[in-house]
Amino acid sequence: MKGKLISVLIFLSMCLSIQAQYPLQGRSFIRTLADTSFLGRGYAYRGDLKAAAWIENYYKKINLTSLGDSYRHPFTFSVNTFPKRMLMQINQHTLNPGLEYIIYLSSPSTDGKYRIITDPADSIHTKKSYLKKHGYSGSILFTTNLTITSPPAGFNGIIWLIPPSDPLIWRVSDGTIINKWISGKMYSNLIAPSDSTVTLAFDSEYLKNLEAVNIAGYIPGKTNPEKLVLIGAHYDHLGLMGRKTVYPGGQDNASGVAMMLDLATFFSKNENRLPFSIGFVAFSAEEMHLFGSAAFAQNLPWNASDINLVLNLDMMCTGSDGIMVVNGKEWPEMIADFNKINTRESYLKEIKIRPNAQNSDHFPFTQLGIPAIFFYTIGDEYTFYHTPKDTYNVPLTKYNEVFLLLRDFINSCGDKTYRQPKQ
Ligand SMILES: [Zn+2]
Repeated sequence: MKGKLISVLIFLSMCLSIQAQYPLQGRSFIRTLADTSFLGRGYAYRGDLKAAAWIENYYKKINLTSLGDSYRHPFTFSVNTFPKRMLMQINQHTLNPGLEYIIYLSSPSTDGKYRIITDPADSIHTKKSYLKKHGYSGSILFTTNLTITSPPAGFNGIIWLIPPSDPLIWRVSDGTIINKWISGKMYSNLIAPSDSTVTLAFDSEYLKNLEAVNIAGYIPGKTNPEKLVLIGAHYDHLGLMGRKTVYPGGQDNASGVAMMLDLATFFSKNENRLPFSIGFVAFSAEEMHLFGSAAFAQNLPWNASDINLVLNLDMMCTGSDGIMVVNGKEWPEMIADFNKINTRESYLKEIKIRPNAQNSDHFPFTQLGIPAIFFYTIGDEYTFYHTPKDTYNVPLTKYNEVFLLLRDFINSCGDKTYRQPKQ
């Protein structure tokens, strides 16, 4: 009995010492960043800038050094927003925005009732004779054919119908322009053959030459401060689809920013300072064609050749199946170093690799020849992506292990110059 008690006590003290050694704040960072008061970190009502100010304050708190006068690195772009109404009624039935339908951000404002025409793509309705007889002004085409990319001539818009089992994924990247026609997506089971009218009301507000900011700071190296490892994570998300529907983006990418801030907190402590510098950039406008990281890479505050490595963290909340490294295929020696640490410490089930892709903020750096990789955790325990359901309530299955893997890698390999194998 006594022996049992002692082993329980030893176990408990081990747990406590792990906790004391790595007091990660990821959960609380995510709760803050994905709070609805940050309005989905989009551009309507400048939710992005609320998040930026909070990140900036945190950098100050842990004493990151700024590059120039402030942590702010501004850039501009133009984007549409839906800051006010968002209404869709099929006959008299009001649908739930974000959960039952989405309106594409390239749609113009509208406030009206339209005829519903449900139809296969190659229908009689696109024929001139039919058009002459009936006309299409005042009609919206509802179709299951996802290969049609715009409404046929004469229609006011197009709504694609998807099976109720499919995810309803909203994006904001098409909001750089406003089309003349309305477009959207909804679940096919919410419309019946007898439904004849759709009422749509929403307000497009195009923000021209909007100023957004990346938030950057660094920890100077002790002996080799000009060399650095750069860690990045985008803090922007999709914002609002109408005044009431917030996309909080807990996984995408409050979780990546949280990981970056946990690493910044760790390396900012005097006892953890390294010979080389570590930079941290919270990127904006990742969801807008990577505008933020592209602007940062075009105006790099360091020499590209001094950056040993860029680690981009985008979606860090699962991990039951390990981690994926995008662009890992191009850097086998680096991946071998990650695997060495992972095998020794048994942090994660697997480190998988993919070829490079233009799918997150590492990409503009790869175009400068800098070794830049993108990490995301993999696992089926959380599948909410670009939906209002992606809230602060994320699992963080292997969050601590990913932190430890990145920490160990930066400690032991951060000053290495990786070379790509000859093709
Ligand atoms: Zn995203």
